[in-house]
Amino acid sequence: MRSTFQTGRTSEYAWRRSQLTALQRFLAERGNDLAEALRLDFGKSPAETFFTETAFVGGEVRHALRNLRKWMMPERVRLPLHYRFGRARVETWPLGVVLVIGAWNYPINTCLAPLVSALAAGNCVVLKPSEQAPHTSRLLVEGIAKYLDDSAVEVVEGGAEEARALLREPFDCIFYTGSRRVGREIMLAASEKLTPVILELGGKCPCIVEKNANLRAAARRIAWAKFLNAGQTCIAPDYLLVHRDVADELLPELKTAIGTLYGPDPERSADYARIVSHRHFDRLESLMHAGKTAVGGERERNARYIAPTILTNISPEDAVMKEEIFGPILPVLTYGTIDDALSIVSRNPDPLAVYLFTPDNVVIEKVKGSVRSGGFCINDLLFQSAIHGLPFGGTGQSGFGRYHGRAGFDAFSYRRSVFHHSIFPDPSLRYPPYGPAKFAFLRKIVEMFDT
Ligand code: NAD
Repeated sequence: MRSTFQTGRTSEYAWRRSQLTALQRFLAERGNDLAEALRLDFGKSPAETFFTETAFVGGEVRHALRNLRKWMMPERVRLPLHYRFGRARVETWPLGVVLVIGAWNYPINTCLAPLVSALAAGNCVVLKPSEQAPHTSRLLVEGIAKYLDDSAVEVVEGGAEEARALLREPFDCIFYTGSRRVGREIMLAASEKLTPVILELGGKCPCIVEKNANLRAAARRIAWAKFLNAGQTCIAPDYLLVHRDVADELLPELKTAIGTLYGPDPERSADYARIVSHRHFDRLESLMHAGKTAVGGERERNARYIAPTILTNISPEDAVMKEEIFGPILPVLTYGTIDDALSIVSRNPDPLAVYLFTPDNVVIEKVKGSVRSGGFCINDLLFQSAIHGLPFGGTGQSGFGRYHGRAGFDAFSYRRSVFHHSIFPDPSLRYPPYGPAKFAFLRKIVEMFDT
C-alpha cells in the first residue's frame, strides 16, 4: 500500500473519483445483501439499515463527488508588496496510508463514511470492521476487494488482537470509532510513532424537555431516536431531563409513541433490533434495576431482546446515570429550573450531542453556552449527524476530530504551504553585510509592508 501511495496515483482527481464511483456501485448493487447482513448481525430492519446506513453513506459519496474539485482547489494567499515576485498558495494533500477501525453498532456507516472521506482525500486505506457484526464485516471484505482498487484499499477482519497487530504498523493517521476504553489504547499505541489520531467515541447525551415544549411531538421524536437500533446509537438520547411541571404529561405521550412505533409487543415488530451480544445484554440488564419501570422492562436473554424501557424515580447517583447506556433503556429525571438540569448534565464528561426541546431562544442560548458537546440539536434528535455539510465528532471525552462532507476530506488531508518565487530580481539588499543605512531602510520596508 505504501508503494501504491508513493506512485502518487491516489492523489489524482481521476483516481479519487473512480473509487468513489465504485463505492457507489457497491452500495447500489449489494444494498440488499448489506441489509440482510445487518438483520443477521443484530436484527436490524432493512428500512432502518437503508435510512441510517446505506442511504447516508450513498449521500456522503454523492456529496463528495459533487464537491471534490472545489475541495481539492488550492487556496491562493495574498502577498505583501516585498514578496510580489512570488506566488503563495495552500494545497491539500493526502495523509498517506490510513487505518480506519469501525464499530459494530453502525457497521456500514462507521466503516464506509470514513472510507469516503479518506478516498476523497486521496489516501490508501486499511479498514478494520468490528468483529461483533461478522456478517457485515464479511460482506465488506468481499465487496471492497471486488469493487475498489485492491492495491490501495484493503479490509482486514478480526477483533482486538488483529487491531493491536495493525496498530504496530506505521500508519499516517488512525481513525477510530468505538469506546473510550479502547480509544485510550489506540492513542497510546499511536503515540509510539507519533501517528495522528481521530477518535469518535461515546458519552451520555442528555435530552432536556422544557415545560413549554410541544410534548406530543417531543415524545414521538424522542421515542424514535432512543429506540432506533435498539438504543445502540452513539448519539441516542441517553437520559431525559424533564421539567417537573410536565413530566406527568410527557410520560403517557412517550408510552403512546412507543406503542405506535413498535406495536403492543415490540418483540414481534419487524422494525425493532436486538442487543448485539449476551455481554451487552447482561450489562444492560444490570442497569434496569434502578427506580421504577414505567414502560417496558420485558426481556429475553436467549433472543437478546430488551423491550423499549422507561425508568422513572431516577437519581443522578444511580448506576444507570454513571455510564453510557447504549441500549433501549431511557431513565427520566425531573428538574425545577434550567440551572438544575444543567448541573445534572455537568456531572458527566462532554457528550457527543445535547438535545433540547423548547420554543425559547433565551434557553437555547443558555444551554448552548453552558455545556460543551460535539453537536447540538433543538426540537429534534440525531439529524445533526445526517447533514453532510455539518461536521460530525465529539469534544473532550466524547472524542476529537471531525468528519462527514468537507470536514472528512480535511481530516484525511494535510495543508501544505507552497511559496513559488521568481529567480529575478535578486536585489543584494536582502543579503548581508547590513550596514546601518541598509538595515534602517530594510527595517522600514518590513514594518510598512509586512502584514
Ligand atoms: P466495538 O466492540 O465494535 O469496538 C470498536 C472497534 O474497536 C472494533 O473494530 C474492535 O475490533 C476494535 N477493538 C476492540 N478492542 C480493541 C483493542 N484493544 N485495540 C484496538 N481495537 C480494538 O465497539 P464498542 O467499543 O462496543 O463501541 C461502542 C462505543 O462506540 C460506544 O461508546 C459508542 O458511543 C461509540 N460509538 C461512537 C460513534 C461515533 O461516531 N462517535 C459511533 C458508534 C459508536
